Amino acid sequence: MKYTDYTYKRIDTTEIKSQMAEIIEGFNNAKDARDQNKWMDKTKAIFSDYETYASIAHLNFNRNTKDENATKENDYYDEIDPSMKEISLNWAKTLLNGKFRNGLEDIYGNHFFNLKELELKSFDPKIKKLVEEENKLKNEYTKIIAGAEIEFEGKTYNLSGLVPFHTDADRDIRKRSYVARFGFFEKNSEVLDIIYDKLVKLRHNMARKLGYDNYIPLGYAAMGRTDYNHNDVADYRKQIVENVVPLVSRLHKQKKEILGLDHLYFYDGINYKEGDPKPKGTPDALVLAAQKMYGELSPETGSFFNMMINEELLDLVNRDGKMGGGFCTAFPKYKRPYIFSNFNGTDHDVTVLTHEAGHAFQAYSARNQPLMEYYWPTYEAAEIHSMSMEFITWPWMDYFFKEDTERFKYLHMVKSITFLPYGACVDHFQHWVYENPDASPMERKSKWSELEEIYLPLRDYDDLDFPNKGGIWQGQLHIYQVPFYYIDYTLAQICAFQFWSKFNNNRESAWKNYLELCKAGGSHAFIDLLKIADLKSPFEPGVLADVVREIWEWLNSVDVKKL
Ligand code: ZN
Repeated sequence: MKYTDYTYKRIDTTEIKSQMAEIIEGFNNAKDARDQNKWMDKTKAIFSDYETYASIAHLNFNRNTKDENATKENDYYDEIDPSMKEISLNWAKTLLNGKFRNGLEDIYGNHFFNLKELELKSFDPKIKKLVEEENKLKNEYTKIIAGAEIEFEGKTYNLSGLVPFHTDADRDIRKRSYVARFGFFEKNSEVLDIIYDKLVKLRHNMARKLGYDNYIPLGYAAMGRTDYNHNDVADYRKQIVENVVPLVSRLHKQKKEILGLDHLYFYDGINYKEGDPKPKGTPDALVLAAQKMYGELSPETGSFFNMMINEELLDLVNRDGKMGGGFCTAFPKYKRPYIFSNFNGTDHDVTVLTHEAGHAFQAYSARNQPLMEYYWPTYEAAEIHSMSMEFITWPWMDYFFKEDTERFKYLHMVKSITFLPYGACVDHFQHWVYENPDASPMERKSKWSELEEIYLPLRDYDDLDFPNKGGIWQGQLHIYQVPFYYIDYTLAQICAFQFWSKFNNNRESAWKNYLELCKAGGSHAFIDLLKIADLKSPFEPGVLADVVREIWEWLNSVDVKKL
């Protein structure tokens, strides 16, 4: 079966409501856990259909935003989202109050029930209106960012179209492209301030309505975090400041040597004088190289990637009308994932074939988990599969980068480690924002600048006005769209570094750990998943320092002059 053979239809929420009423009654009257489980199976089928059709509608729209029909179907699934949340909430309440909960916990483990508790903590019909308003504001932000039309060198670009110029080998082009970028943000600064201000106040209001002091615990619940809190995260950020910030300074010095520059400005975002390495070959050639690579990596990845190609579950190349960016989605009804991306001729194309394929491989490996809630884990765990795959595939990088392979690896490692303080800065900023919901847009910007001094002390924006005033975070969509989703990438990075080390020491046992983790899907919370994969928790004191030391030793062993 190919993607185009999948059935698609609109589900009817009224019909589902009445089906669910019947199921809830049956569940409540069941005589034991086994009997209750039969009713659970019926809800699984309903939600699996819903998720599958919603995912198809969303994907088809992204594949062709100019298709009127696809737009309508996507809008339909957007519209019924709050109603489906309400239906799901009622079901969660039923499950949590079930007479034979212990029996069901024996079958599914308690993580499922913890997730249902979080659902109760993060939504209530009394905030339904606020959620709708929040979605509207988020869409407003997306429209401004996606609709950017920026004049540069006599042509018009959107924000992602401008990105290749930011890493041009010519310093002057790099700087001017940033002037153009920040000019766009400066022009929209006021409206971006207003949207964010409204979002912060709205989220604070939601939290208050649900009985919290501020938005932080609600944000954590919405992220599905059951096993750590904001204090753990604050300690972890401190470890980044102590252990990673000094290391990034050393890399900064090294980069000056490679580029032959006395001083590095923000716009010197390249690592080699000639520019950063690019993959060699057409998109088709890259996919064939990936197929060969996954075939050699393991039998599991080999059959997985062949399936992705044969069943047409990849849409990789940029074309007119296609939405920007990249993601991996899945269709529970068919037990298949899908990879969407926009190849643009940079090393990013290879990352799609490793990072997004890591997500897809996990979803596929966990397809036989007994609950849909167990297909995907929470984000910080989900990014382990993808970020680790980027490293697991290192031995095959010459298929893509040929003579530039060593340059690519060094760059990959530098980017991965340099990212950590930035990720922590974004996270720290958001905690401050939601602790101080009445702060003015000006105060937010000056707080950001203050935090940059701690996390990114060597950043020098030269005379670029907008970032100098503390506005750069307005381009980070997570801050607007998914609060507190950012530290996740850094947590996963620390785990991916551990996999890098494991694969260097013993590929066979490391692969076993990785496969176990993929198969476990979302059946456990983050820290328990780490145990399954024999990884150390980044929250544990000393772990981050050890991991980072090993990375530094490797970076230090590279003779950068020979790259
Ligand atoms: Zn990812």
